[in-house]
Amino acid sequence: MNHLIEQLVRPEIRALKAYQVPDATGMIKLDAMENPHPWPESLCDDWLEALREAELNRYPDPRARALQARLRETMQVPDGMDLLLGNGSDELIQMLALAVAAPGTGRDAGDDAVPRRPALLSLDPGFVMYRMIGLFAGLEYVGVNLNASDFSLDLNATLAAIERHQPLLTFIAYPNNPTGNLFDAAAIEQIIAASPGLVIVDEAYAPFTDASFLPRLGEWPNLLVMRTVSKMGLAGLRLGYLAGPADWIEQIDKVRLPYNINVLSQASATFALEHRPVLDAQTEAIRSERTQLANALTALDGGQGRLHPFPSDANFILVRTQPGHASALFNGLRQRNILIKNLHGAHPMLADCLRITVGTADENSVLIEALAALLDDD
Ligand code: PMP
Repeated sequence: MNHLIEQLVRPEIRALKAYQVPDATGMIKLDAMENPHPWPESLCDDWLEALREAELNRYPDPRARALQARLRETMQVPDGMDLLLGNGSDELIQMLALAVAAPGTGRDAGDDAVPRRPALLSLDPGFVMYRMIGLFAGLEYVGVNLNASDFSLDLNATLAAIERHQPLLTFIAYPNNPTGNLFDAAAIEQIIAASPGLVIVDEAYAPFTDASFLPRLGEWPNLLVMRTVSKMGLAGLRLGYLAGPADWIEQIDKVRLPYNINVLSQASATFALEHRPVLDAQTEAIRSERTQLANALTALDGGQGRLHPFPSDANFILVRTQPGHASALFNGLRQRNILIKNLHGAHPMLADCLRITVGTADENSVLIEALAALLDDD
C-alpha cells in the first residue's frame, strides 16, 4: 500500500470498506426502504413551479426557518421542543457523535482505574451507521444483542451494559432496522431512566407505525427523538430532524456545518409537507401492502419452513430462509431483475435472512411469483 496512506490514514479507517450501494439500474428496487410511489403529474408541475422561486445564487437559510415551521406543524413536534435538521438523519447521528466524543470524556463506572473510551451503545442486529459513525468519531461501540428468537429487547443485558459502559449516546431504532419490530415501550422507558447519557429514539420508520416517543419529549431530560423524511417518500432530498429540549439542540447545533440543508431540499421539502395528504395516502398504501406481502410470504411457505417472515411495523419485512438458502434466493431474484437485501453474514443472528422492502402491489406480485419459482426449483 502507498506508504503515506499507511502513515496518515487511521488504521480503523484503513480496515473499513466504504458503504456499498449496489447498482439498481432497470431493476425492481426493494432493497433500501424507499417509497415506490411517484407523485401525480400535476403535483410534479406545481413542485417545479415552486422551485422557480429558489435562489440558487444565494446560500440557503442556515436555519431553514420555513421548513422548520412546516415540520413542527405537520409532525406535531411538542411545544417547547426545538428542532435540528440534518442532511439525512445520518448527518444527525454524526453531529451527536461529534458533539460528545473526545478523548477522556468517557464516564467511569467507578469499578476500574483505567479511563474509558467514551461509548456509543445500541442494539444488535441494528442500523449499521450507529457503529460506523461512532467509529469515525472515536467512540467505542457497545452493541447489546437482542433476543435471538424474536429480536425483542433484552432489557437486563441492556441495563447491565449501560451500567458497565456508561454510554454517552444510546441509539434505539423504533421500529428497528433490519428486524422491523417495535421494542417494548416500557423497556425503553427504563433504559432512558437508567442512562447517564443521551438516549436517541430513532423513529425513521414512524410513517408505518402508530407508536412514537415524540409526544413524550420532555418527560426525561436526556431523551431526543430523531426522524427522517426519507421513508415517507422523500429519500432523494436527504432530510432528517432531531427533536428535543432546547438546551441540548443548542449544543449539538454547534457542530453542524453551516448551510447543511441546501436550497433545493429546503424548498422541495417545504412544498412536499404542504401536500402531506399525498404522502400520507402513499404510506397508508404501503402499510396495507405490507400486510398483503406478509400474507403472501406466509402462504408461499405453506407451513413447510422454507420462508419465515417476521412481524413488521416498518416498510420492509425480514424473512428467514431455510439454512443456506438466502444467497441463492437473493441471486435468483437479482437474475430476475429484483433487488432485495441479503443480510446473511451481516450478524450471526441474521443468518439465512433477507430483507424485502414493501413495493407497489405490482412489484410485490412480481417478487412473490419469482420467489415461488425459485423455491420450486430448489
Ligand atoms: N435510522 C434508521 C433506523 C435507518 O434505517 C435509516 C436508513 N436506512 C436511517 C436512520 C437514515 O436515514 P436517512 O435517510 O435520513 O439518513
